[in-house]
Amino acid sequence: MSLTTTVLGYPRIGVKREFKRAQESYWKGKTDIRALQDSAAKVREDNYHRMLEAGISEIPVGDFSFYDHVLDCICMLGAVPQRYREIAAKLDQPLDLFFAMARGHQKDGVDVGAMEMTKWFDTNYHNIVPELSADQSFTLDSSRLHGLLREAKDIIGGKALANSTTVTLRPVILGPVSFLLLSKGLEQPLTLLDKLLPVYGQLLAELGEYEHIQIEEPFLGLDLDTAAKDAYRKAYSVLGAKAKLFVTSYFAPLRENAEIILSQPIETLHIDFVNNSEAEVNAILALLEQGNVKVSAGIVDGRNVWRNKLRQSLALLQKIVARIGTERLIVGSSCSLLHSPADLSCEKGHLSEDVYGQLAFARQKLDEVVALAKGLEQGEAAIAAALAASDAAIEARKNSEVINNAGVQQRVANINSKDTERQGPFVQRREKQVAKLNLPLFPTTTIGSFPQTAAVRKKRNAFRKGEITAGQYQAYLEEETIQCIRMQSDLDLDVLVHGEFERTDMVEYFGEQLDGLAFTANGWVQSYGSRCVRPPVIYGDVSRPKPMTVDWMSFAQQQTHRPMKAMLTGPITILKWSFVRDDQPLSRTCAQIAFALRDEVLDLEKAGLPIIQIDEPAIREALPLRKADQKTYLDWAVQSFRISAAGVQDETQVHTHMCYSEFNEIMDAIAAMDTDVISIEASRSQLDILKVMSEAKYPSEIGLGVYDIHSPRVPEPKEMADVIRKASQYLENWQVWINPDCGLKTRDWPETIGALRRMVEAAKTLREELA
Ligand code: GLN
Ligand code: ZN
Repeated sequence: MSLTTTVLGYPRIGVKREFKRAQESYWKGKTDIRALQDSAAKVREDNYHRMLEAGISEIPVGDFSFYDHVLDCICMLGAVPQRYREIAAKLDQPLDLFFAMARGHQKDGVDVGAMEMTKWFDTNYHNIVPELSADQSFTLDSSRLHGLLREAKDIIGGKALANSTTVTLRPVILGPVSFLLLSKGLEQPLTLLDKLLPVYGQLLAELGEYEHIQIEEPFLGLDLDTAAKDAYRKAYSVLGAKAKLFVTSYFAPLRENAEIILSQPIETLHIDFVNNSEAEVNAILALLEQGNVKVSAGIVDGRNVWRNKLRQSLALLQKIVARIGTERLIVGSSCSLLHSPADLSCEKGHLSEDVYGQLAFARQKLDEVVALAKGLEQGEAAIAAALAASDAAIEARKNSEVINNAGVQQRVANINSKDTERQGPFVQRREKQVAKLNLPLFPTTTIGSFPQTAAVRKKRNAFRKGEITAGQYQAYLEEETIQCIRMQSDLDLDVLVHGEFERTDMVEYFGEQLDGLAFTANGWVQSYGSRCVRPPVIYGDVSRPKPMTVDWMSFAQQQTHRPMKAMLTGPITILKWSFVRDDQPLSRTCAQIAFALRDEVLDLEKAGLPIIQIDEPAIREALPLRKADQKTYLDWAVQSFRISAAGVQDETQVHTHMCYSEFNEIMDAIAAMDTDVISIEASRSQLDILKVMSEAKYPSEIGLGVYDIHSPRVPEPKEMADVIRKASQYLENWQVWINPDCGLKTRDWPETIGALRRMVEAAKTLREELA
């Protein structure tokens, strides 16, 4: 086979999270640096062997990281912030400096915090944010990359695949424009490009022997301003002349940026064909036809867990070949496989056959890439078995009774205004809720969870291991809940919660009770550092076989005369934090989840819960990367939220809560959710949110986070009251609720009680002062 096959990167935590364990035991001081390095080397070696065994002919080297690839780039460019340079001499190992930047360092008289982390585009992977200053300088330290290349040469060097193709290595680096755009500290980071380009030039010169150098520029998939477009032109006209660049972008369509990058002297452009629509593909092909840039066709989805529809992909590849020929084509994954779990074979016997048969994890995706290249080159007959299996999976998906639920499909097909409209407008609802709930001015409440202490986690483990019975575990949780409710009444909070002791994770708890979602045994994906998540797999039509929270919530309400607020996770959050089926639009899957939640909401109302909170912490992070695509998303997201909430009587009060949000751009959508009360966790100050809300004339009630739950610091009542005093410039007093800014799960009891006591005190002072 002469067609080159590749992937942009491979999972780096090990098939069963071996490397995570190695990291954590090194950090705890239980093992030494050798053990950590050995574990890393083992993961890389395994990865190379998997790629070789599958028949990948161009292998990425350098995507592996001890923590994060952006942090690797920061170190490679000599952009380590001063406060870390200062402590370097006091650390045992060079790698300890790297970890100090990643996670902070507090030992032997050194005390320095971690660098900031943020979500890598719209994934759940978190990268470290480069910190740059106006007088920033850069110096090249390419030792890490060279080390990895040497190691890969030892393992792979000169190897040929079964079909006698020689395998080549492709160094992976983050590109200069994306590096600058990811940074913080400068209003216009691209002004540093001129300083940065020589360092990249030097690096490329060092890598001169390589056929291809993978240079990652994911910002090419975003809306760029003129400065960024100019930066791309400049950077790649310079760097493209120095080496054979394999420029990558992924996660979002290239659109107008395709032309910019294709007019530079680059060797190959990697295109994420999974995230470009047919019209967008046609436009790119027209451009490609005019030039001679090679194409790396990202055709196997690196971010999802579904089997590739091979026949469909083959047709797309044939279409590309018809325009540019096979000599200019490489076949690969849409993005790095970092975002997909490692190996489906670990799920054998764990997932049902119906679900198992639909999936492909990283290892299986390698086979898909190779099969597609082979089919393209040698004809369909050469991959007949793979095609037949793919066709059969598609067919099974259409017919499976586990996947398809006609009742659910019908409900979503018939959505109408009755499903999305509350009975009356907010003013009318408010009147009835005021009469029913009889709350004071500035009602106090919390966001839902209370401390999940080591004791709670220990009991849960004991239950899972079978050391205590279900009855004993239940009794323990009930006792915790009773104590938590009693404590809230003693503190004189106005609206109580049950504390969420029975829940581990807010999506997992609901996912396990809904039909249409599956949980894997080893489907781990790196979130940051050693932290991995195991997202549920939404494989079929979603429905609720029976009530999920009603017993707990009724139990909680029975413990008190004060109003109890029931807690649910909203449809968009369940969707965003899962692997979502790719055989129907996201909007449809979201609406299905919304209907299941709607039934739960109605049952809670029937059970006597006067207030229901539907959490949507992920609503902002699910926003599409491209502005032009955002309205469509917001429309269906709001519709789904309303489906879940709108079934109740006017008297029932609906709350929502959102986290970490830059709300300015989505204010209209938030208002359109038509909740009675919203609480927002601000990344900056609550005041910023208030300004935006008052400008938008936000109509309903707002819970203000009067203290930051992420810090153990407990502010004085005066400081909390000041938040409200300032708020009264922007809002009517009746609109304002008082609460912590997010759930209390991660805090300890003493500080939680202390903080809530002060919060209630602040509310009482304000009632007298502002009534
Ligand atoms: N009700 C949830 C809690 O308090 C909300 C979590 C969140 O905001 N992410 O834990
Ligand atoms: Zn929150």
